[in-house]
Amino acid sequence: MKIEEMNRSACCGCESCANVCPQNCIIMTQDAEGFFYPKINYEKCIKCGRCESVCPSLNAREIPVKTLPIILLAINPDEKIRRHSSSGGAFTALSEKILNDGGIIFGAGFDENWHVKHMAAENFDALENLRGSKYVQSRIGNIFKSVKAEVESGRKVLFSGTPCQCAGLKNFLGKDFENLLTVGVMCHGVPSPLLWESYIEWRGRGHEISRVNFRSKRFGWLNFQLEITFKDCGYYSKPNMQDFYIQEFLLNTILRPSCSACQFRFPNLNCDILLGDAWGIQNFAPEVTDNRGTSIIVVNNNNGLDYLKKARLEVKFLDLNALIYQPFFFIPTPADERRKNFFDDLAKTNLPINVMQKYFLQNPAPVSSMNNKKTQEKFWARLKELGFTK
Ligand SMILES: Cc1cc2nc3c(=O)[nH]c(=O)nc-3n(C[C@H](O)[C@H](O)[C@H](O)COP(=O)(O)OP(=O)(O)OC[C@H]3O[C@@H](n4cnc5c(N)ncnc54)[C@H](O)[C@@H]3O)c2cc1C
Ligand code: SF4
Ligand code: SF4
Ligand code: SF4
Repeated sequence: MKIEEMNRSACCGCESCANVCPQNCIIMTQDAEGFFYPKINYEKCIKCGRCESVCPSLNAREIPVKTLPIILLAINPDEKIRRHSSSGGAFTALSEKILNDGGIIFGAGFDENWHVKHMAAENFDALENLRGSKYVQSRIGNIFKSVKAEVESGRKVLFSGTPCQCAGLKNFLGKDFENLLTVGVMCHGVPSPLLWESYIEWRGRGHEISRVNFRSKRFGWLNFQLEITFKDCGYYSKPNMQDFYIQEFLLNTILRPSCSACQFRFPNLNCDILLGDAWGIQNFAPEVTDNRGTSIIVVNNNNGLDYLKKARLEVKFLDLNALIYQPFFFIPTPADERRKNFFDDLAKTNLPINVMQKYFLQNPAPVSSMNNKKTQEKFWARLKELGFTK
């Protein structure tokens, strides 16, 4: 089947194929880099072709740009929620209304081993685990089947994930539902679960972890820290570029191969609403800059707009220029030139921590994608292709 023949940079690992298979004969298996890909048990396969028909990578096509999306800045008026959210807390505001209406939220949370998986939240306590970005590819498991059962029952559902996961879900469902809100994150790429799981196990070493926060705002939103709290002995906290896992994530060394060929950039977002960090806000909206975290929201359709209108958020409308600080909204993230060597080294050892530490640069160049001339050229070329001018 074509889903197994695709090259590594095509399959985004959304698990739509595994969810749809009527024979349950697709399992997701981990490769040497630590990413998951489908594997078919041909003894059970009936060659129905459903896995191919739902695959968002095999069926990706350019959605024509009819109108510009609505772009807004947003903050959650609840200071505590905003503090515990990665950006401005837009995700929680959108979820709140759905939970109050008896609905259910699906998103990425931690399991008991701090591995990242998609799971459901049916109340505000459970929602806490879904709040906050987790910088690793989240496993979908059977979640698309659960989403389907809930939307078909008529319940309000919010599904949140990367745009490729939203695309996989959309194809799996096969039609739109008014009672489903899909919320994508403005994703530049996802690191390997093998590396995150090795990292967190090593960081824990004999101490029980009570909280992991990839985006602690202890020293402000712009200087976010990875923070790991231990039950018995305080916490570990490091500015993002001083932690070897986060640094390799931000330098794009450890991302999934499909991320540098991402087919889910604007206009192929496949979600009703897209949420990101309002990076560059000090340049386009200095009057609302407070370093406590602000979301940028892209509303792609009327369904998204209907749900957004009901969310408890303070908003400000923006024009397209605000997206100049989000190059990867339009173009795939280029992989770091050290990526190949990194994973070649990983293949030679069973000590991923040593490899991450080896590649850890003490004084790396600042991570500003917009400073990169090549990225800027690609960004403007893509905008021109889509019919926008400088
Ligand atoms: C891997 C990744 C890369 C990102 N890269 C960028 C970027 O380059 N630029 C940018 O502006 N924004 C990026 N974001 C989005 C940003 O970090 C925030 O998630 C987003 O702005 C929402 O913030 P919030 O304050 O509204 O809500 P929060 O409560 O902080 O957001 C939580 C939401 O994110 C979802 N989520 C968390 N981790 C994952 C995951 N691993 N996979 C799928 N969904 C997840 C949860 O399901 C939940 O819905 C990225 C997010 C992720 C997960
Ligand atoms: S062709 Fe049908 S039965 Fe075979 S793996 Fe794909 S979905 Fe499953
Ligand atoms: S459906 Fe998703 S996981 Fe399956 S082959 Fe396609 S991209 Fe890969
Ligand atoms: S960058 Fe693209 S392919 Fe990679 S996880 Fe994000 S949406 Fe999926």
